[in-house]
Amino acid sequence: MRVFQTIEQVRAERGRGPLALVPTMGALHAGHLSLVESARKKADTVAVSIFVNPTQFGRGEDLSRYPRPIDSDLEKCQATGVDWVFNPSESEMYPPNSAGIMIDLPALDSVLEGKHRPGHFRGVCQVVAKLFNIIQPTVACFGQKDFQQLRVLSAMVEALDFPIEIVACPTLRDPDGLAMSSRNQYLSPTDRQKALSINQTLFAAREMVGGGVKQASRLITRMQQDLLAQHLSIDYVAAVDPLTLKNVEVMTGPTVLAIAVRVGATRLIDNIVVTPV
Ligand code: AMP
Repeated sequence: MRVFQTIEQVRAERGRGPLALVPTMGALHAGHLSLVESARKKADTVAVSIFVNPTQFGRGEDLSRYPRPIDSDLEKCQATGVDWVFNPSESEMYPPNSAGIMIDLPALDSVLEGKHRPGHFRGVCQVVAKLFNIIQPTVACFGQKDFQQLRVLSAMVEALDFPIEIVACPTLRDPDGLAMSSRNQYLSPTDRQKALSINQTLFAAREMVGGGVKQASRLITRMQQDLLAQHLSIDYVAAVDPLTLKNVEVMTGPTVLAIAVRVGATRLIDNIVVTPV
């Protein structure tokens, strides 16, 4: 496995063949590694980027305490058969005095996460567009765990004509159902127990949909009640169209049920796609 820290090193190595990229912020878990497996099915060369991107964190968010266990991340990449890791420094990605650039997708990036984390998707689009230009992957894999990010980036690729196939990968969960996340390691045992109500709430809503409920307001009320019963602080509970991310009133097709909550000082998100019967 090759580990590159500079853009120049990547440029010197990158030929023209198919390459699948898995962009990450590190603190790798089995969810990230499942993206590597998906990437492997798409191209002979698999690259993982590990970069905690400062421009996607808002003021007061967890940038400084975000975990950065680079040695164990590299071991995991090696064990999973990753060919290259790109692990640039902050100054490599954002040289001092370089011009900032903003990519806005107003209809998609101002709702849900975008509403609660202003500027977040600008930062995500900025870093992913840069990674695409540096590494020039033919395929890039993203998790449905961050379904809005996946939608925003797919729209960016379409709008800017990046010649890159975006692959959506399913959410990996711990055996108890909690969606894997680098942020789960912030949770105390008590908070982790409380966090389980996020996935349990989503699964209960899916049961309701299976039982014939189509009205989003009924699902949302029930989900809010379930989360509040566990004393979680709700950022949002929503039922949205997977393409437009607009709120759905009565479900007529696949709908994303999305939750963002704070468990103690930790902000967690999760979602599932449900289809009315
Ligand atoms: P992050 O390091 O949190 O920026 O995530 C990097 C990539 O891994 C993103 O495409 C995420 O959607 C994806 N990812 C994070 N958690 C999971 C999970 N539990 N299952 C599948 N993919 C995930």
